[in-house]
Amino acid sequence: MKKEKIGFIGLGIMGRPMAENLIKAGYDLIAYDVNRASMEPLLAEGAAGAGSIKEVAEKSGVIITMLPNSPHVKAVMFGKDGVLESTKSGAIVIDMSSIAPLVSREVGEEAKKRGIAFLDAPVSGGEPKAINKTLAIMVGGEAEVFEKAKELLFVMGSSVTYVGEIGSGNTVKLANQIIVALNIAAMSEAMVLSVKSGVDPVKVYEAIRGGLAGSTVLDAKMPMVLDGNFKPGFRIELHIKDLANALETAHEVGAPLPLTSQMMEILQALKVDGLEKNDHSAVIRFYEKLAGVEVRKEK
Ligand code: NAD
Repeated sequence: MKKEKIGFIGLGIMGRPMAENLIKAGYDLIAYDVNRASMEPLLAEGAAGAGSIKEVAEKSGVIITMLPNSPHVKAVMFGKDGVLESTKSGAIVIDMSSIAPLVSREVGEEAKKRGIAFLDAPVSGGEPKAINKTLAIMVGGEAEVFEKAKELLFVMGSSVTYVGEIGSGNTVKLANQIIVALNIAAMSEAMVLSVKSGVDPVKVYEAIRGGLAGSTVLDAKMPMVLDGNFKPGFRIELHIKDLANALETAHEVGAPLPLTSQMMEILQALKVDGLEKNDHSAVIRFYEKLAGVEVRKEK
């Protein structure tokens, strides 16, 4: 795979460090983002810049997309001068965005008609793990395509798991997003209770992080809350998108999600308060407002 030229489309919070790590690993990379400014840092690090999606697709043996949601992926993949029309037969397209599994399957079917291999390979871990190459990557698609792409995926992540046919990667990602959102809500409820009862939140965090209530979510998000730092990271608006996809998918397959639907309303309330661009650790601000306290480290 190392000889293949990599096309990378979508250089936001996640895409940029992932593409940087591919360049550092010696891959020849051609990049594109609708927002020219997002491309600049990568060009300075040795990537070639493309003027269009068509140019990326025509010049690459592997095309990776890292875009916000299903409509963006559809816009980039389908239609005139889109990825699928412009990609060489025999190439591999890997969509690493978190989108609806149904849309992954639509893209996969269209790719197959054109002799293009397709994987859905969403990630978990956020910006820090994208930078450190320690993302968890969950991959759907044909097993032999996965085998070909594995080496490349291991450049960006430390855990790369094949989970089944096309769409399965995004189904697993939805499961991941439910667990993360509900963990943040549980952490927030517990911390607001503790502070309102007069206990120092730093002590609460220290006391519980090594026990059964300790978690990766707690260790990633509690320091941000204590510092009052809600800079994303993972924006609330993106988590709303994931839970909307989870609820839609769940209703299609007949799996009611009572806690996820409540979580969605908490995120919607935060959006009404204008906090949709905050990191999702700002879920605690919903609970802080209810109880009239703030969970912060003493300055
Ligand atoms: P982002 O908004 O920072 O980046 C998306 C990029 O895609 C932007 O630079 C945007 O200009 C570009 N883009 C949008 N439409 C385009 C188009 N038509 N053609 C070319 N470029 C286009 O988002 P992000 O945080 O990097 O997230 C990307 C995906 O990864 C999302 O699906 C998100 O849910 C998922 N994800 C994010 C995180 C995180 O912590 N940020 C963690 C895991 C997964």
